Amino acid sequence: MTTAPPRVLTIAGSDSGGGAGIQADLRTFFACGVHGCVALTAVTVQNSLGVTGIAEIPAETVAAQVVSVAEDIGLHAAKTGMLASARIIEAVTPALDRVGIGRNGTTPFVVDPVSASMHGDQLLADSALDALRGLLFPRATLVTPNLDEVRLITGIAVKDREDQRLAAKALHELGPEWVLVKGGHMWDDPECLDLLYDGREFIELPGPRYDTKHTHGSGDTLASSISSALAHGATVPEAVRFGKDFIVKSVAAAYPLGSGDGPVSPFWRLDR
Ligand code: PLP
Repeated sequence: MTTAPPRVLTIAGSDSGGGAGIQADLRTFFACGVHGCVALTAVTVQNSLGVTGIAEIPAETVAAQVVSVAEDIGLHAAKTGMLASARIIEAVTPALDRVGIGRNGTTPFVVDPVSASMHGDQLLADSALDALRGLLFPRATLVTPNLDEVRLITGIAVKDREDQRLAAKALHELGPEWVLVKGGHMWDDPECLDLLYDGREFIELPGPRYDTKHTHGSGDTLASSISSALAHGATVPEAVRFGKDFIVKSVAAAYPLGSGDGPVSPFWRLDR
C-alpha cells in the first residue's frame, strides 16, 4: 500500500466535449500528481463549436458533495470553475466554511470566476455576480479572472498594463488574499503578461503568445495546476509560477478536435 497523494477539489461544471470544465481539471490534477475530487455544479451540452444546453445540479447537492469529500477524504486545496447560478454560490458558501476551505479556514481556495466560454456562451448568470463578489472573493486565497471577467466584476475595461494594475487593486479590495489578472485577452500585447498582486507588491509573469485558436480549457488548466501546486505545499507566488509554466506548455501542446476549437493539453507532462 502506498500513501495517498494530496487531494484537490474542483467545484465546477462538466464539458461533454472533454476540453474544459471538470474534464480539464481532472486531467491537470492527474498530470500534477494530485488526487482530484469533484463537486459537480452543472452538465453542459458542449462540443468544439460551443455550448447548446445546460442542466444545473440542485444547489443542495453541490454543497453536499463539498462536505462529503472534505469530511471523509480530506482536502489540500480547492478551486472553482463554472458555478452557474447565485443559488449554487449561496449554498456552497456555508459548506466551505463548515469544512475550512478558504481564508476562514486552512485549505487554500482558488476562485476562477468563470463567466463565459471562449465562444461567448454564458456559464454564470448575471444575477450571480453579486454572490461571486460578496461571498467567494472574500474567502479566496487567489482569484484568477481573465480580462472579460475583470470587466464584469469591476467595470474596468483593461486596455494596457496600467489598467491591468488598476484592475488588480480594485479586485484586491473585494477581499481575496491574492489576485492574478490574466493578460491573455489583451490581444495587441505581443506578450501574454499575467499580473499577480497581494495588496503590496506586483509580480509580473510574462509569457509567449501562441498564434492558435486551440485554447479551450486554458483558464481551467491554469487554475487547476496552481491549485495542485498549492496542495503540494507551494506558496502562492511559487504555485502561480508553476501554473504559468504549465499553461504555456499546455497551450503549445494543444490539439485540434472537431470542427471548432481544440483543447489545451497537459499530456506533455506525461513524457517526462
Ligand atoms: N465549459 C465549462 C463547463 C467550463 O467550466 C469552462 C471554463 O471554465 C468552459 C466551458 C470555457 O472554457 P473556454 O473559455 O476555455 O472555452
